[in-house]
Amino acid sequence: MWSIVLIVAQATLAVAIPLTSRNPASILYDRASIPAAAPASVFACSASNWPPNTIGKANEPQQPSEDLTAILAAVDPKRIQATIEKLVSFGTRHTLSTQTSKTRGIGAARDWIHAEYQRYADASDGRLSVKTIGYVQKPDGNRVTFATRISDVVATLKGTDENRLYVISGHYDTRNTNVLDYEGDAPGADDDASGVAVSLELARVMSNPAYPLPKASIAFAAVAGEEQGLYGSQFLAQTYANSTPRVNVEGMLNNDIVGSPNGADPHVIRLFAQGLPPLTVENSTKRESRLQIGGENDTPARNLARFVKEVAENSATGMNVSVIYRLDRFLRSGDHRPFLEAGYPAIRFTEPRENFAHQHQNVRVDNSTGTPVQYGDLPQFCDFGFIARVARVNGATLWSLANSPGAPTNVRIDTEALGNESTLYWDPPVGGEGNVDAYEVVWRATAAPAWTDVIDVGLVNRVTLDLSKDNVVFGVRARSKEGHRGVAVLSFPG
Ligand SMILES: [Zn+2]
Repeated sequence: MWSIVLIVAQATLAVAIPLTSRNPASILYDRASIPAAAPASVFACSASNWPPNTIGKANEPQQPSEDLTAILAAVDPKRIQATIEKLVSFGTRHTLSTQTSKTRGIGAARDWIHAEYQRYADASDGRLSVKTIGYVQKPDGNRVTFATRISDVVATLKGTDENRLYVISGHYDTRNTNVLDYEGDAPGADDDASGVAVSLELARVMSNPAYPLPKASIAFAAVAGEEQGLYGSQFLAQTYANSTPRVNVEGMLNNDIVGSPNGADPHVIRLFAQGLPPLTVENSTKRESRLQIGGENDTPARNLARFVKEVAENSATGMNVSVIYRLDRFLRSGDHRPFLEAGYPAIRFTEPRENFAHQHQNVRVDNSTGTPVQYGDLPQFCDFGFIARVARVNGATLWSLANSPGAPTNVRIDTEALGNESTLYWDPPVGGEGNVDAYEVVWRATAAPAWTDVIDVGLVNRVTLDLSKDNVVFGVRARSKEGHRGVAVLSFPG
């Protein structure tokens, strides 16, 4: 353990520049429409540069490495299209549909996904391994009316470090207007063959022996039972959580309904990130402390979402990420939730604007208005170039996470005494300090959405900064020898 104390004060004068982002909120809040009569001081007074920055520098986005740039360029919209069309060809993939037919139903889809992952594994020089895991769900008096096997297909790319895993998932089951209709066609192209195609395509590209192995492992999952009650993701999250030792899932990305911008900006993807974790994950004492320090916006899920913006908004992905501070859309739920409930940071990607005639609807043409309207979740409504860009956002995130040193643990801030300096201290990441080149302290004004400032403090576990903890939110992150940063962690009172 390093115990060097570093005092950093009055270093270089830096101007804080927010991360570049064309947030779609600007569509609703058109800056050009602000009346000229509006008092200029509201927008330009010196308070907008407060708190003052006398140390550190602007926190800039992390540009993709050479390997990552090649990986993102290899993501192929045609492969994504072929995956979605193949999944749709099984007619229905309803969780209660047949599991014995080779051509129709969820069993045939499960076996095809397994075989497809196996093809990538066979070409991976032993890097990728595939498993179909599952259990029998008893009738639940709700959406499962008879005992049904729930199967998750998981391909895992084994990293060079033990004990660290990132998970990406889409659900391969589908539904109709009637959630219990397991016989009618339910193509599920957008919901959620699109998300499954993202998992498959990234598994194919990232397991290519042309690229170095990542530090952490990555699990590419396709789960069932989502529409019947998140059963497949629940099983997967609990399988990791109940393993001995508990699997250290450092981040989970759920892709559900990522098939089309539906007329909205095609270069934006929404990212849902939960605030306060459930009390089963963070007890009332910790929650009390979180509320006391104004840490409700700095949960592991929110800081994972901030990380996505830093590494995945660039010309290699062609996308902007619109973070939404919410578990999910109204009236909806998704496979990231069981992971959050198991205590893992988890977030959800969903297209920027949904077309509700094209999801959870029987395939039919409605002529009642005189103009024929096609209902149903059909591949013709998917934008494969858009899905490829979403896959690149996920790829940039996963590869950056898996090559980072992970996150420091037990990040604390000294609150023993009043003062205008701040002392932070922490323990190494779960994977150890072998791959840590330096730690970085990041901060932002309490009302700012993303980390605006950063200072490299070296390979230490304690630092005192000439910046008041009362005025900013502090986080600490680790940076690898190759320059990959990890997710920042909020400091709690020690
Ligand atoms: Zn879905």
